Amino acid sequence: MNKKDQLFAGKAKTVYTTDDPTRLILHFRNDTSAFDGEKIEQLDRKGMINNKFNAFIMQKLEEGGVATHFDKLVSDDESLVKNLEMLPIECVVRNISAGSLCRRLGVEEGQDLNPPTFEFFLKNDPLHDPMINDSHIISFNWATEDEIAQMKELTFKVNTILKALFKDAGMLLVDYKLEFGRFEGKLLLGDEFSPDGCRLWDAETRNKLDKDRFRQGLGGVVEAYEEVAGRLGVKLD
Ligand code: ADP
Ligand code: UDP
Repeated sequence: MNKKDQLFAGKAKTVYTTDDPTRLILHFRNDTSAFDGEKIEQLDRKGMINNKFNAFIMQKLEEGGVATHFDKLVSDDESLVKNLEMLPIECVVRNISAGSLCRRLGVEEGQDLNPPTFEFFLKNDPLHDPMINDSHIISFNWATEDEIAQMKELTFKVNTILKALFKDAGMLLVDYKLEFGRFEGKLLLGDEFSPDGCRLWDAETRNKLDKDRFRQGLGGVVEAYEEVAGRLGVKLD
């Protein structure tokens, strides 16, 4: 599959068209951004790690019955995916309180959430991805009732699969963000699942092993991502 034109450059990935209009190539760059792109740094090896980590997770999700856009790895830092009509929505499930939930509700970080919470956010950097609800999504026609139901069901299904996967590798899946898109009449999981878009803590020490190390200037960002990949058995080299 030949890479053709650059379609779009986001904060961390560049999207290319291919010979096949139904397929795209995602290039995972080393750029690491936080605070809606206000803080940006290049972290050596990060693109390769996230590309291979994402491939590993997408395959686990497919095996667990979640349909995804992932086709195959095409290089160390590129993957072939189905060309989705993305919904402008982020779906977040939280098992433990952290991040914007704590800032918004004034609650302490680290509380177990039983049952886990579900939130929708609008994908809009200038507006800082505001939180939205089902009613906003319907009124502004960002997705249908049926797609809302599917996004919730699939995001929780991902939680069941990945919580167990990370638990077996000595980690807590604190929270994560997913994006979905339309393809041939079906809703598929798109974008990526990597330590850039989730929170993972060591189960014993509660050490942070995700992008919070970058957001909070804790250092050892790539080392933490490599640690997570190593524990899961993701082959990097
Ligand atoms: P951001 O948009 O947050 O800056 P990225 O740098 O990761 O994020 O850019 C990747 C872009 O590609 C995102 O806008 C995402 O919604 C989009 N995307 C991801 N997977 C697909 C896909 N399979 N088909 C079409 N677009 C996709
Ligand atoms: N997240 C993401 N992209 C975003 C916003 C959030 O990948 O644009 C992820 C984030 O890494 C975390 C989860 O979604 O795992 C919940 O993020 P939160 O709402 O707490 O926002 P944050 O404080 O991380 O910006």
